[in-house]
Formats: sequence, structure tokens, C-alpha cells
Amino acid sequence: MSIAKNLLQLKYKIPSTVTLVAVTKTKSVTEIMEAYEAGQRDFGENKIQEMTAKYQQLPKDIRWHMIGHLQSNKVKYMAEYVHLIHGVDKFSTLVEIDKQAKKHHLIIDCLLQIHIATEETKFGFSTHEIEAILASDELQSLQNVNVIGLMGMATFTEDKAQIQSEFHFLSQFFHQLKIKYPNFTTLSMGMSSDYSIAISEGSTIIRVGSAIFGG
Ligand SMILES: *Cc1c(COP(=O)(O)O)cnc(C)c1O
Repeated sequence: MSIAKNLLQLKYKIPSTVTLVAVTKTKSVTEIMEAYEAGQRDFGENKIQEMTAKYQQLPKDIRWHMIGHLQSNKVKYMAEYVHLIHGVDKFSTLVEIDKQAKKHHLIIDCLLQIHIATEETKFGFSTHEIEAILASDELQSLQNVNVIGLMGMATFTEDKAQIQSEFHFLSQFFHQLKIKYPNFTTLSMGMSSDYSIAISEGSTIIRVGSAIFGG
């Protein structure tokens, strides 16, 4: 099936209040343009240099989402154009984002990545670490970053009940923080295999690659 068709089918299935980020890692500029022509404007990449190369070649009304693990020394390449950074998993990365944002007189929106999966390998903070960061004076002093929510990835498993319980946990934590931090508007959870579970648990942004562009 075509990219445009996959995209329209997906849009039809998700509520209009949920933002769809089309994940284009390893996909060509031609493939991205097919989605763009079909009306898609939010795109996600997991490598800063690949995203920057595509940013340079593609229409400037695209909103670029950095969804991958961040290397601080590369933040400078995307600071001037990135729309939302989903995967912040170290405080020092926030410090670097703040520094680069300042150079461009911008405030960059970020999400803190939380570790909800059972796998050891997935990046992210614990709930306690997130609470400590949000309450810290150090965060207050970073005037060019705006922490607007959380991002999480469920365990890679066929067990839907487990995925649901991980997303449920994340969503509850998000809503608890939202009471204290009015900036909290955004919960990034859900990919091709689990976006419908994520939406049922309250996701506001889903990150979908293979269901649009093929495996
Ligand atoms: C690749 C990727 C996605 C999209 O995965 P699909 O299974 O292709 O939908 C979502 N989030 C992150 C962080 C990714 O790296």
C-alpha cells in the first residue's frame, strides 16, 4: 500500500486531539515528501545529523521532532529548528539544550524520557529522578528550555496487558505532575505496534514509523 494511503487510514483511526509524528528514520526525502503531500507536517528522527540533513532539503513548515537518544555534542545542529525534543534522559542534556537555545534566542520544548519498560537497555529517568528535576532550582535557572511533559516506550512484547499497564502507569504519573506543573501538556507514547493502547491510556502524541512507511 502507498504511504499516502497508510497515512490517511491511520489518521482516520486516531482522534484529532492526538498528534501523529511520522517517524522517518532511514527513509528517503522522496518518501517523506509523499507523506508531506498527503498533508503530514510532524516528522520524527532518531539521529540529529540525519534529521538536520533532511531539514535542509525539505519544506520549512515541517515540525521536526527529535525522538532518539541524545548526544549532547550534537544538540547545536538542531537547536535553531527543532520543534520538540522527546528523549531527554540526562540533566546535563537539558543544560546543553538551554545553552544552544539561548544562542538562537529561542525557548525549546522538551519531554523527559521515563523508563517504564522491563528491559534494562531502554533509556530514561525513574519517577523519583523526574520529580527531583522538576522541583530543582537548577531547572528553574534554565530559561531557554520548557519541559512540557513526558515520553516513554513500553516493553517490546506481545503481551498487550503488560504494555497497557506500563502506559497506564506513565499516564497516571503524567496526570499527577500536571496538577503541580501547568506547563505539562504533552505525553508522548505509542508506536506502530502499540499506538491504540497508548491512545486509550491518554497519549497526546504518537510516534509511528513502519505502519506508515513499511518495515
Ligand atoms: C523508530 C521509533 C519509533 C517508531 O517505531 P515504529 O515501530 O516503526 O512505529 C517510535 N519511537 C522511537 C523512539 C523510535 O526510535
